[in-house]
Order: sequence, then structure tokens, then C-alpha cells
Amino acid sequence: MPPAAAAAAPLAYLDHAATTPLRPEAREAMLPWLGERFGNPSGGHALARAARTAIEEARDVLADCLGARPGEVVFTGGGTEGDNLAIAGVHARRGGRVVCTAVEHHAVLHACEALKGAVAAVDATGAVDLDALASLLGDDVSVVSVMLANNEVGTVQPLGDVCALVADRSPAAVVHTDAVQGFPWLDVAGLAASAHLVAVSAHKFGGPQGVGALVVREGTAIEPLLRGGAQERDRRSGTHNVAGIAGMAAAARATVDQRAGTVARVATLRDRLADGLLAAVPGTTESGTRATKVAGNCHLLFEGVESEALLVLLDQAGVCATAASSCASGAMDPSHVLAAMGVPRRLAAGSLRLSLGWSSTDADVDRALAVVPEAVDRLRRSSP
Ligand code: PLP
Repeated sequence: MPPAAAAAAPLAYLDHAATTPLRPEAREAMLPWLGERFGNPSGGHALARAARTAIEEARDVLADCLGARPGEVVFTGGGTEGDNLAIAGVHARRGGRVVCTAVEHHAVLHACEALKGAVAAVDATGAVDLDALASLLGDDVSVVSVMLANNEVGTVQPLGDVCALVADRSPAAVVHTDAVQGFPWLDVAGLAASAHLVAVSAHKFGGPQGVGALVVREGTAIEPLLRGGAQERDRRSGTHNVAGIAGMAAAARATVDQRAGTVARVATLRDRLADGLLAAVPGTTESGTRATKVAGNCHLLFEGVESEALLVLLDQAGVCATAASSCASGAMDPSHVLAAMGVPRRLAAGSLRLSLGWSSTDADVDRALAVVPEAVDRLRRSSP
């Protein structure tokens, strides 16, 4: 396709696991707090009170959507902060050993590494190996962190089994789950009911970037990461992001209310995309197992192709995708998730994550189906 035609074509956004577009409900809920209703919710006058009311209304919504009590919801600056607060916050109070899985997001993995934590192996689908996890448990463990759904390959973890195992082998430990990628697709309220700490991030479900929530169940003592004005009952100091929190609540409500329909619709789109690419591109394998993946994840491995080069061609053709998780440097480190699943480095080098979300359309899939096979073919021909 000539560059001019490519530039004119609408983008096919297939990077929802990196961030999702703002839902209209969220934008509408945010606007007043970006305009005339600018009060600091910690203050004592009318504008401050209005902001405080908005925060508490949002807290009620998040609590309902996450299966928590309002007092258990702590507003954060996003998923990374929630994960760090959960792990470092509990550890600072209780000491002990920290355990996570090998496929956690770096927000969990690095927080555990900083505390010299142990890492449990996963199987070829990316699901935690419960025997491996059991072998790491004991009375001296204080925190076990197992994500609800993986950000690269979409694998859903057996969180109920994990909670039961931890209750049996490490009864004093708390379970943290990073539900950042799970929330758009899964009933977090039900699936994470036995977890003591649950982190979500607004921008993964149609809310704004830079805001999230951590459920801290009653009786779970955490030390704050941030000290200051003692907001959030001294669990997270700092002036509230009122607009962000209002937007997150509206997005959470819409996500939960529309979840069943979105999951069914997006799973159909994802299946068409994955099946279409598997059929059109020889030497392609799918990571994980579709039966245990979230609906929006399509993760493929193309033999004989470098992800970086593929992403450049896709970008030029208006397809927004990624290879592993997004990180600030944009650098493509070999994926720790694929390595933990036992994917050979040679294959992992040709990985592509196409992630769909609430606003994905048939046109996005059509465009990817038209562009990806041609791009892979071109790369293979240029370096056989
Ligand atoms: N956890 C998972 C599973 C994620 O996918 C992400 C973002 O990619 C994060 C945590 C970090 O969330 P945030 O971008 O809100 O800091």
C-alpha cells in the first residue's frame, strides 16, 4: 500500500492491553471536575465538600464493582502504585517472605524482587504451577501475589485454588491479586473474593490514565508508601485526583454493566482475528490456550520474524499493536512471560500481541487481517 493511502486509512487500534480509549461515560463524569468544580476534597468549604461527595460516591461504585466495602477501597495513582502498596505495604508491617509467580507484571515482579521474594514457576499456558507454589509456602510467608489475568498472553490464573492453597500452607499470609488486566473481562468481585488485596487501574477499562484503586480488606494492615496529609485513612496520602476518580467510577460501572455483552462480542472478534492469522500465515503458533485466556487477547508467535521489525511495518500500515508489555523505554527485552512458559527464545523473538477492548470493531480485525500476513511475508522474504 502506498504511504499516502496508509496515512489516510483509519488506525486499527489493537493495543487495548496497553491502554484503552476513554469511555464517553467517563469523559462526561470527569468534565465538571476539570472545570468549575475544582475544590480540594480535603477542605472545609462548599467546593471542597462537593468534591468530597464525588469521591465518596465513586468509592461506593468501585466497592460495588470490586465486591468490597467502601472503606476497603483505597484510591491510588494506578496499577503500579496499587501493586507496590499491596506488597511493600504489607511487608513493611509484617516482614516475612514474599512470593509471586514468574509471569507477573513488572510492578509486582520488581516489588517482590526488591524484597528478595521467591518466584513460582508456571506451566506452558502461563498458569501458575500449584505444586511449585506450594513448595514455596510456609509459616514465614507474609504476602503471596498472583495476578488474575496476564497482560501479555491473557492467561487467567486459578485464583480460587491459589487462595485455598495459601490458606492451608501459609494461614497467616495475605493474597494480593493484580486484577489490572482481569477487570475488563472477568467478575473480579466473585473471582477475587478470597484475596485480601486487589489492584485495578482505570485506563485499562475505559477510565483515565494515572488513577486506580486497591482493595485492602478489613483487618489487612498496610504501611503507606506515601506520607503526608493522611488522605484515604492514612493509607495513601496526597490530594485526590477528583476528575480521575470520578471518571474511573463511571468507567467501572459501564464495564461491569456491559461486561457480559462485551466479552461475547470481543471474543468473536478475537477468534476471527486469531483464526484468520493462523490460517493465513504459515509458521504461526498461538501462545497459551484460548479456553483460559481473557476475551481480548490474541498473542501469536511468527517463526523467522523479529517483532521489532514487524511492529514498524504494522505501524506504517496503521495497525497499533505491541510485542510484549509496554514499558517506558519502549525497549523490547525478551519477554519474561514467554520465557517462563518455556517458549524458545527463537520463537519468542517473533511475538505479536494484538489486544482488543470495549471499542474494538470488525473494521479493526479486517485491517489487521489484511496487513499482518503481508508484513510477515515481506520480512521473511527480506531475511529468509
Ligand atoms: N499490572 C498489569 C497486569 C498491567 O498490565 C499493568 C499495565 O500495563 C500494570 C499492572 C500497571 O498499571 P498502570 O499502568 O496503571 O501503572
